[in-house]
Amino acid sequence: MKIAILSQEPETYSSRRLFEAGTGREHEMQLINTLRCYMNITSSKPRIHYMGTPLLDYDAVIPRIGASITFYGTAVVRQFEMMGVFSINGSLAITRSRDKLRALQLLSRKGVGLPITGYARSPDDIEDVIKMVGGAPLVIKLLEGTQGIGVVLAETKNEAESVIEAFLGLNVNIMVQEYIKESKGEDIRCFVIGNRVVAAIKRKAKEGEFRSNLHRGGQATSEKITPEERKTAVKAAQIMGLSVAGVDILRSERGPLVMEVNSSPGLEGVEAATKKDIAGEIIKFIEKKAKSRLRARSKA
Ligand code: ADP
Ligand code: MG
Repeated sequence: MKIAILSQEPETYSSRRLFEAGTGREHEMQLINTLRCYMNITSSKPRIHYMGTPLLDYDAVIPRIGASITFYGTAVVRQFEMMGVFSINGSLAITRSRDKLRALQLLSRKGVGLPITGYARSPDDIEDVIKMVGGAPLVIKLLEGTQGIGVVLAETKNEAESVIEAFLGLNVNIMVQEYIKESKGEDIRCFVIGNRVVAAIKRKAKEGEFRSNLHRGGQATSEKITPEERKTAVKAAQIMGLSVAGVDILRSERGPLVMEVNSSPGLEGVEAATKKDIAGEIIKFIEKKAKSRLRARSKA
């Protein structure tokens, strides 16, 4: 198969591993810089051009769309979809998961466990929203933050009020969330492919920090998860419509709570901690999908 990896930074660990895994399984792999794809949106003949030539005859794309280029990146993925190319994660699913609030709204409708979360716009409602999520300490998050940037722990009600006021004053979209203190700076990243959790790691925040992101100095170790956690992770990925997802779960007194669902989960931490070939699993999943697409087409 001819498979494109869409990435802003082709030299990252994840892109390189996907390239190697695909090549190792006899596929023609191509690393493509998402921001250099430009589009011709013409009736019945949508095209993507790259460095002066059209990108043709791809069987699949693996989008790795960074949070800073969600709009352009999902437009590129959508254009591939318009051309009939299979994208392992669809543009709509990526858009859904990128907005933390939208994602939580979709998950809440289907009864997935979540930290209590509030969303407000007017400074006049701050006090009530703080009450709604159970008071301080609480967590304040930018809707489109990533790698732990834009996630703040407010220890007291006063602190919470002033941080929320400051964000609202800057016209930034934030949500206010119950702080799950019993998780003690730890969370579980479940790596979902298709309808399976293929690997799970526990991420532990560094001393004095509550955010467990590896980019914030967190440490990852392989972790055995419970059947309930497994079910929750798969369900969350399915609700978002993502075939490849990193589902982040907090262990709370009332069971697993989903914090977010990442559409371009990094491979480095999870492969290093579990010694599993996750890149290979992703390529195998594409092969399986391609076969069932061919079967569906020959039936039609
Ligand atoms: P990002 O997209 O920046 O990774 P997250 O929502 O995943 O943002 O939050 C970053 C980290 O902060 C999480 O991995 C977790 O360790 C911690 N965290 C986030 N929300 C909560 C919460 N409600 N209670 C306890 N810890 C939290
Ligand atoms: Mg996260």
